[in-house]
Amino acid sequence: MAKIYCIANQKGGVGKTTTAVNLAAGLASLQQRVLLIDLDPQGNATMGCGVDKRALEASIYDVLLGEADVRQTIARSPAAPFDVLGANRDLAGAEVELVGLERRERRLSDALQAVQDDYDFVLIDCPPSLGLLTLNGLCVADGVIVPMLCEYYALEGLTDLVNTIKQVHANLNRHLKIIGILRVMFDTRVTLQQQVSEQLKQHFGDKVFDTIIPRNVRLAEAPSHGQPGVVYDPAAKGSRAFVTFAGELILRNGGKLPPPPTVAPAASASDVPLGLFKRSSAT
Ligand code: ADP
Ligand code: MG
Repeated sequence: MAKIYCIANQKGGVGKTTTAVNLAAGLASLQQRVLLIDLDPQGNATMGCGVDKRALEASIYDVLLGEADVRQTIARSPAAPFDVLGANRDLAGAEVELVGLERRERRLSDALQAVQDDYDFVLIDCPPSLGLLTLNGLCVADGVIVPMLCEYYALEGLTDLVNTIKQVHANLNRHLKIIGILRVMFDTRVTLQQQVSEQLKQHFGDKVFDTIIPRNVRLAEAPSHGQPGVVYDPAAKGSRAFVTFAGELILRNGGKLPPPPTVAPAASASDVPLGLFKRSSAT
């Protein structure tokens, strides 16, 4: 059964979508079966994996309202070998429309039952709020990954998120926990970032992931090409960090990493059929 993780932080612009998309691609590159769910009406994760949000026949919105079958709504990313459950502006209405429905906070959980055995990881890109959409994510998740900027105000918003997670844990989902805090957009030259990073480690211990995602313009450029950075420029330091992070997550789950791809050895002279070197006697 899949491990289901929400990528959540109620602040906007803290790297949730970048983390969701690149972690999905990183896990896929390590041979994991991955479903990425876009739970943000902005549809950035959808676009970032090369799926056109304007052309979706059905989206996560229809799934949540029980108007589309989840399996039929899932599409394969054209950019990398993982699946996507896309979102677009329709989803903005769901926060209100869901209120009147039965099991309003368990709609995603109910829908995912049919597919969660098909994957090793399900990643949910949450919107920048703690409303009903995020609650649907938290109700079905095993844990939360919190991307965080190492800035002075970073810890402020964290208290609200931690309290929400505690409440969901107590009342709605006993499995839910914080998997870890991911330091993103990190710039080693900025002393303040190093100080905040140290504070995070002191405060949260091993709940802070070892991997740090550096600030890297290639990660910011990639979405305009409809690709995760990990695919757009695999050699970029930000991309490599996300693959390392994917590996860290697999190991933390007790999984194994696939062996690194073997490079075929260059042919030596003795491998080449001798006949190729014989001079034609006719010349
Ligand atoms: P959120 O989903 O939390 O709103 P995004 O993932 O959309 O945040 O990131 C906000 C902005 O920061 C985007 O323009 C994104 O391209 C950029 N960004 C995210 N992570 C990085 C990074 N590691 N290096 C450089 N730019 C980044
Ligand atoms: Mg986002």
